[in-house]
Amino acid sequence: MTLARTWSVGLAGVHGAVVDVEVDLSAGVPGVVLVGLPDAVVRQSVDRVRAAVVNAGGRWPLRRITIGLSPASMPKQGSGFDLALAAAVLAADGAVPAESVGRLVLLGELGLDGSVRSVRGVLPAVLAAARAGHGTVVVPAGNAEEAALVDSVEVLAAATLGDLVAHLAGRAALPRHVRGALPPPAPGPDLADVVGQPIGRRAVEVAAAGGHHLYLTGPPGAGKTMLAERLPSLLPALDEQAALEVTAIHSVAGTLPPGAPLVTRPTFEAPHHSATMAALVGGGSGLIRPGALCRAHRGVLFLDEAPEFPRAVLDTLRQPLERGSVTISRARGAATFPCRAQLVLAANPCPCASAAGDAACTCSPLQRRRYRSRLSGPLLDRIDLRVDLPAVTRAAWLEAGVTPEPTAAVAARVAAARAAAAARLHGTGLVLNSQVPGRLLRERWSPPRPALRLVDRALERGALSVRGYDRVLRVAWTLADLAGRAVPGADDVAEALGMRLQRAAA
Ligand SMILES: [Zn+2]
Repeated sequence: MTLARTWSVGLAGVHGAVVDVEVDLSAGVPGVVLVGLPDAVVRQSVDRVRAAVVNAGGRWPLRRITIGLSPASMPKQGSGFDLALAAAVLAADGAVPAESVGRLVLLGELGLDGSVRSVRGVLPAVLAAARAGHGTVVVPAGNAEEAALVDSVEVLAAATLGDLVAHLAGRAALPRHVRGALPPPAPGPDLADVVGQPIGRRAVEVAAAGGHHLYLTGPPGAGKTMLAERLPSLLPALDEQAALEVTAIHSVAGTLPPGAPLVTRPTFEAPHHSATMAALVGGGSGLIRPGALCRAHRGVLFLDEAPEFPRAVLDTLRQPLERGSVTISRARGAATFPCRAQLVLAANPCPCASAAGDAACTCSPLQRRRYRSRLSGPLLDRIDLRVDLPAVTRAAWLEAGVTPEPTAAVAARVAAARAAAAARLHGTGLVLNSQVPGRLLRERWSPPRPALRLVDRALERGALSVRGYDRVLRVAWTLADLAGRAVPGADDVAEALGMRLQRAAA
């Protein structure tokens, strides 16, 4: 036999496509010819595969080796093709039966010593193989648990190339990996830790119930970060489909937590304001890594000290947040990742960020205004909730004698409110109040006239824009859902109007 064929998977973002790997041996000057647009990493892979085959006790054919990867139009990025290349070369050389590799999909990088190394993106790759109708996938032992999340394919785990060769030759079968019971997710930080910040506690509860983006301002020590960190555990757990989506992103990013193959809780991502565009949105060489925005898919993206982020970076977030996906274009192709994240921004009232509050502030009014205005504009337009947190005073600490309500109690109210909103929005394709466009809101779900008196007056006075009016209505509905009311009353509208920045020109 001088021709062999097997399969692997190429990834673009979190979308995999099965790649046909063909190897032909012919007479001529020994060497390797690659066809099918392989990137530099795949070229290096040939050298690695040769070393691995030899060091695993195999023979590297001294013939002219032609390797074809198709479809040719698809960029082949990353090192995950090693195992398939090795198997196809060995089969073409007759070291293992060609029919033993013909139906397999192989994923994995080879070490020079013949060990099979874990790769990124195994979950989306196995999903692609299953969708294409393949029944058996060989993966690195270190990725077996992740691969086994796809229960419609047989997952075989290979620790070394020698093990794979023994399997293909029919000497010793590779261990089959099945999906194990998932460990319960580690509990996140609890709201019971947040003492004496009723406004902030209310803000995260409302944000969780309506899926509203949230902008928190307040002096250092007001608890902005603590509150933001507690938002994910107020959100409902991810269902199986969402969990697979989020896990696939973290698989490609290489950020899957060890021992927990499936991400079942909304994630929390908090990039620093010095983060590059690539770190925030995505990028890198070879297989494109999703950034913090995508890793926060169905979870929370927290930008602390938001005015310190470069404006260009913040503006980049707006469209992806609206569309729910981001496309990263590179010379060798593009990758699209989902990014339906809930945004939480936090800011100090001024650049000097005095914990003592306004009294100790040394900033000029102009400096303060400039600092605030760094966030104005299109991004803020998407944020329904803008809440100014007061400093937590000693008196508030002392008064808060009772234990604050824990996350579990608040999460139960959030779940009930979300269910009420979903029932009302049934048939529109929407499930959260934050998703309802302003026009639909005013036409179909306008609260009764008397309840709107306050917000109508603000609009007439010019204190509120039409967009701002819509934001108040969205939040008022969430407040009504939380209180179990069928429609928002005047109190809900008044509270929603209050949940806006007072000092900024919002
Ligand atoms: Zn200041």
